[in-house]
Amino acid sequence: MSDKAVLSCRNLGKSYEEGPQSVQVLAGVELELHAGERVAIVGSSGSGKSTLLNMLGGLDVPSEGSVWLAGEELSALSETARGMLRNRALGFVYQFHHLLPEFSALENVCMPLLIGRTPIAEARQSATTLLERVGLGHRLSHKPAELSGGERQRVAIARALVNQPQLVLLDEPTGNLDQHTAHGIQELMHELAQSLRTAFLVVTHDMNLARQMDRVLRLEEGRLVAA
Ligand code: ADP
Ligand code: MG
Repeated sequence: MSDKAVLSCRNLGKSYEEGPQSVQVLAGVELELHAGERVAIVGSSGSGKSTLLNMLGGLDVPSEGSVWLAGEELSALSETARGMLRNRALGFVYQFHHLLPEFSALENVCMPLLIGRTPIAEARQSATTLLERVGLGHRLSHKPAELSGGERQRVAIARALVNQPQLVLLDEPTGNLDQHTAHGIQELMHELAQSLRTAFLVVTHDMNLARQMDRVLRLEEGRLVAA
């Protein structure tokens, strides 16, 4: 199809008001991500990685600049339209997984499909396949509280992938994973980038993971620069 960017931003900035002062966290951030591309963003703690990812995923509102996701400018959409676009085009892995505590691993992973009106049997089948793929075939009916930190993270990754989104944003996805499991997640990203042309943007301070991506960018003093 076209080589139009799956995700782009122009002159993106974010400031927080701290009493009478305004603290600028990000300024003039430019980024373009294409189908099948895997990009890492590294940067020290507090450099604004989560803030950037949240704005790119439409979870937070920029102080300046624009974000385009799958060809749509996020700020031009209504709340409802933005939600629908996110459900259709985007998978998001939060730094702190955000699984629904009342529901099993399988149900959590089914959720994006059910919201998108996939029939339940089909949703369960897709969710099971992905949970098996991240090594959790034996934990389908466990609730988040009954899983280890790394297992929860893998459920969150499966949930982000189950809709086969064009773009997946991941905030420190391997933070709680041992090397072997982290490697499995890397392989899964590589495979999906090749087979489905899924684009991945991963925020990490795991240099082993960053080095496996196609490009590495660094957040430094509020700006995104080549690493
Ligand atoms: P990272 O993910 O790179 O560790 P964050 O994006 O979480 O960094 O935070 C970047 C900076 O923005 C930090 O200095 C943090 O204190 C500040 N910050 C984040 N969220 C808020 C907020 N809601 N209000 C004020 N400051 C914030
Ligand atoms: Mg963070």
